Amino acid sequence: MTKLVKFIQAIYKTKKFIPLHEPRFLGNEKKYLNDCIDSTFVSSVGKFVDKFEEDFAKKVGSKYAIATVNGTSALHISLLLSGVKSEDEVITQALTFVATCNAISYIGAKPVFVDVDLDTMGLSPESLKEFLNDNCEVINKECINKTTKKIIKACVPMHTFGHPCKVDEIKNICDEWYIALVEDAAESLGSYYKNKHTGTFGVFGAFSFNGNKIITSGGGGVIITDDEELAKRAKYLTTTAKVPHKWEYVHDEIAYNYRMPNLNAALLCAQLEQLDSFIKNKRELALRYEKFFDDMDDIEFIKETKNSTANYWLQAIVVKNIENRDDFLDFTNKNGVMTRPIWKLMNELEMFKDSQHSNLDNSKYLEQRVINIPSSVVL
Ligand SMILES: *Cc1c(COP(=O)(O)O)cnc(C)c1O
Repeated sequence: MTKLVKFIQAIYKTKKFIPLHEPRFLGNEKKYLNDCIDSTFVSSVGKFVDKFEEDFAKKVGSKYAIATVNGTSALHISLLLSGVKSEDEVITQALTFVATCNAISYIGAKPVFVDVDLDTMGLSPESLKEFLNDNCEVINKECINKTTKKIIKACVPMHTFGHPCKVDEIKNICDEWYIALVEDAAESLGSYYKNKHTGTFGVFGAFSFNGNKIITSGGGGVIITDDEELAKRAKYLTTTAKVPHKWEYVHDEIAYNYRMPNLNAALLCAQLEQLDSFIKNKRELALRYEKFFDDMDDIEFIKETKNSTANYWLQAIVVKNIENRDDFLDFTNKNGVMTRPIWKLMNELEMFKDSQHSNLDNSKYLEQRVINIPSSVVL
């Protein structure tokens, strides 16, 4: 472990504390922020929001992009517009960040958890198929959970740490069962599955630009879709459902103030310009880590899987022997190298503990063993 601490200090060329993930502002950030302030349009309208939405859609290959105030709100609106209603159910993976389940809960819907694949750490098509076959039936083009009698309206796979899950297979299963596919692509900007950008397989994809993500707007998110009507609805619902008028405040439904401020969009436009170089840097870092861990029997570095190109947002390892995990965390953090275990399973959190779930052996295996190691773009 001393060897590892030295290795990481050498990479980041410092003996000071090395955080898990620091943002990098190496481009036009200050210029665009100054432009934005000079224009006085720092808030909910402005050219940077429009520019970002256009640039982003082009980057990921979707028809439309709608900027939002954060990733959770992007997920919330995506689920609403997929038709999820109060008391419906939404399938997702037990191994995810809590925001996925919070967004489901904002609607009054209930999460149902299936397992992940060991290699991708994302929702397992086999587990999904098995859960549906064992527990559900299609009646009048709706997927009904036979145990709870509720409608399973949507499925939200998540691309863990930027490693794409087998989302094409998941899409086929969802289509067969009349379930809407919404991708939580919060961690996977720049990650492709079978040469198609993550987030573009479902009706909606949601991304986050929180401070710890691969690019950041301080806080922010975006919804992508290829459906023009849904894109218009998404924009409308995220901007207080204001009916266009020269001066009157007319709003024709209860909606949300989920719009990304122009100031944040200015920062984000500059960050997006650097995405390719950030990813190249992170992929090189992954190679160095891979080589370092190659001759260790008890630690496995998590590599991108077949058919995928990962952004390697957060680098991750599997500490095979559970007893060594806490020692590893203890030693590295004490010695100035920040490391952090993966999330607790969602069905183990108080608010979701009564949720229905499938066998979660893979999720449990990973929960007990996966650790993130420093992943910032190397300067
Ligand atoms: C970051 C993240 C989100 C959204 O987070 P915000 O902080 O709301 O932008 C959602 N899902 C996952 C898996 C995430 O990692």
